[in-house]
Amino acid sequence: TLSDRLADTFKNLRGKGRLSEADIDATAREIRIALLEADVALPVVKEFVAAVKERARGEEVSGALNPAQQVVKIVNDELVTILGGETRRLRYAKTGPTVIMLAGLQGAGKTTLAAKLALWLKEQGKSPLLVACDLQRPNAVNQLQVNGERVGVPVFAPEPGNAGGIEHGGDPVQVARASVEEAKRTLHDVVIVDTAGRLGVDAELMQQASDIRDAVQPDEVLFVVDAMIGQDAVSTAQAFLDGVGYDGVVLTKLDGDARGGAALSIASITGKPVMFASNGEKMGDFDLFHPDRMASRILDMGDMLTLIEQAEKTFDAEQALKAAEKLSGKGGEFTLDDFLEQMQQVRKLGSMSKIMGMLPGMGQFRDQLENFDDREIDRIQAIIYSMTPAERNDPKMIDGSRRQRIARGCGRTVSDVKDLVERFFEARKMMTQLARGGGMPGMPGMPG
Ligand code: GDP
Ligand code: MG
Repeated sequence: TLSDRLADTFKNLRGKGRLSEADIDATAREIRIALLEADVALPVVKEFVAAVKERARGEEVSGALNPAQQVVKIVNDELVTILGGETRRLRYAKTGPTVIMLAGLQGAGKTTLAAKLALWLKEQGKSPLLVACDLQRPNAVNQLQVNGERVGVPVFAPEPGNAGGIEHGGDPVQVARASVEEAKRTLHDVVIVDTAGRLGVDAELMQQASDIRDAVQPDEVLFVVDAMIGQDAVSTAQAFLDGVGYDGVVLTKLDGDARGGAALSIASITGKPVMFASNGEKMGDFDLFHPDRMASRILDMGDMLTLIEQAEKTFDAEQALKAAEKLSGKGGEFTLDDFLEQMQQVRKLGSMSKIMGMLPGMGQFRDQLENFDDREIDRIQAIIYSMTPAERNDPKMIDGSRRQRIARGCGRTVSDVKDLVERFFEARKMMTQLARGGGMPGMPGMPG
């Protein structure tokens, strides 16, 4: 797998410093192979690898992760970003029924998906109506009716001849238009329009789909695509984007052994979010699309990412423990450098409350600390960086003239510097008391 190969690449790199050019090139090669194996389209692979190289270049080798893990993390973050970050939600119409139209090649899984989506919407408390606008294949209407029955959702379809008073003449545009009226009349709040597909992209199909789109003005057009499509993903997705246009993508047949490169190709070329994933023949085999899961599937990384998360957490806990030990007198005096390091840890964790949660006995400060301003850390950092190492070690020596020099160095006022040093002494006092009070026992699972 990619993570094994990266681990090999970085066998010789340990400790601190930056990733070297040679390391980055070797890494890029491995990522390229992994993505091509996952069937990501070549132009997308190239662009992606370039972006990852760029990011790896600026990155320090962190204490928490080995270089292989670190690169995997960069790759993963980048993948998740392209795949859409957070899942995008369906947009519902403000008034009248929400119209969702499905488009895609024949066999992509539209008709199956229509029913799955209807079931999912029903579970969300909606009242969907399925609409059969594939009048191309003799059996298509029946297939939707069978699926509709399985999920207990009615199907609006032209019956043979002209039953139900629908003048359709085999015209899917008329059927689509009539279905929205029908939904209003029967109080269905979502209309799901299934359309016809061809085996390949063709002009007549595109025209029909865009006529339906114009007739019903869907709130969402979803492009349904088979995850096994592989290298054809890009041209097909682009053809439908130009021919019909769509707002989101649905990937089907993810229960197969496709690694999901199509998801990355499509998302990256079209910029449209993948919204749903379909992974089986049963009506319940359907879910919102999760970019993070897809990213680890594309990279074939199994539990690698979980390991990375754990390594980072452990590292942060170790740092916190080190600070706690200093406070309790085991590791020398708590200095401004330690103070700064703690602030930076806090920022890295995203919120003060998390690190406090790791230090038993500090929960009482959580509220104050959660209100901590992130920019405040920048200010503190600038001031501390303007001090000499001696001053950081022994802040008592910071007198009036030193304060002036420090203030000039970081572009803050003398009283800012004074405030910071006072705050530091207060924090040290508070934390030393806490440590003496026995409020910091060793953490479970940590060396004591
Ligand atoms: P359409 O032509 O786009 O309407 O595609 P269909 O809904 O008729 O699906 C084509 C075939 O793919 C059918 O045999 C479906 O049962 C099958 N299918 C659809 N979605 C999935 C899926 O997520 N997983 C699997 N394994 N099969 C699927
Ligand atoms: Mg169909």
